[in-house]
Amino acid sequence: MQNAGLAALGLNWRYLAFEVDPEHLGKALQGAKAMNFVGLNLTVPHKLLAVDMVDALDESAKAWGAVNTIAFEGRDEHGAWRPARDFADGPRETRLHGFNTDADAITRALREDLGLELSGAKILLLGAGGAGRTAALKVASEGVAELFLVNRTRSKAETVANEIRLRHPGLKVTTGYPAGPVDLLLNATSLGLKPGDPVPFDGQQFSLRQAGAVYDMIYRPAETALLKAAKAVGCRTANGLGMLLYQGVKALELWTGQTAPLEVMRQALERNVYG
Ligand code: NAP
Repeated sequence: MQNAGLAALGLNWRYLAFEVDPEHLGKALQGAKAMNFVGLNLTVPHKLLAVDMVDALDESAKAWGAVNTIAFEGRDEHGAWRPARDFADGPRETRLHGFNTDADAITRALREDLGLELSGAKILLLGAGGAGRTAALKVASEGVAELFLVNRTRSKAETVANEIRLRHPGLKVTTGYPAGPVDLLLNATSLGLKPGDPVPFDGQQFSLRQAGAVYDMIYRPAETALLKAAKAVGCRTANGLGMLLYQGVKALELWTGQTAPLEVMRQALERNVYG
């Protein structure tokens, strides 16, 4: 999707994938800097490690404690930091500026792909791993009315709930299933990735008829058992492809300073993921 986006913007840049052993992340980042990269993305587990390796952290990276996007910046003749793209021959002094585009992508996907208004919403969130924690903290910051957190390992849901209580003392956050209806069921567990995986909630404690909409962060397979069951009872549904798309769109905009060609990128992503 990034290469399709770059081509549509008329840039002769390339987006390449490199497998980097976490032990060598620091050296890899310094190598990218030495080679005048404009920017890069990082995935698990590098997102967390990079927090201590960049020279400056954007508010987005500070808020979520993870860096999934780095923009290289050079110092101009007045001493100001400007994007690497502004230096034709590469800047003399370069810094790594860390951003997080994942969290905004979650709420953008919920708004645009599900038509969900987060303010005042009641949400049941399944999963308290990296993605679940970020989603919980992000939706909490958007003025939701009530948040229910469920995780296989309950103590992890409790830890996330306590973090939310500290950051948003007014918000009602409970660990466990809701008794009544919710506007959204959000799956942030990895249950559903494998063929034959069951739905990621306890059917004795929750019914999909309680949910207005269901978002599954999983995008491959395109339709998990959860999404299939949710559609069958009339819930609005969306899979996680939008999340992947929107984090990439935001990253491309940080590197290029231009509006990303959203539909071109969406089509390229769908082609690559679904064939
Ligand atoms: P993670 O840190 O490894 O967390 C995995 C979560 O799934 C934990 O809450 C874990 O519970 C739960 N889980 C795993 N196996 C389970 C099982 N058999 N039964 C019940 N719960 C189970 O992974 P992550 O990075 O947060 O990713 C979570 C999901 O989001 C994955 O499916 C990933 O593909 C998806 N994701 C999508 C995007 C996107 O762009 N669409 C981005 C990031 C992640 P425990 O705590 O009990 O182990």
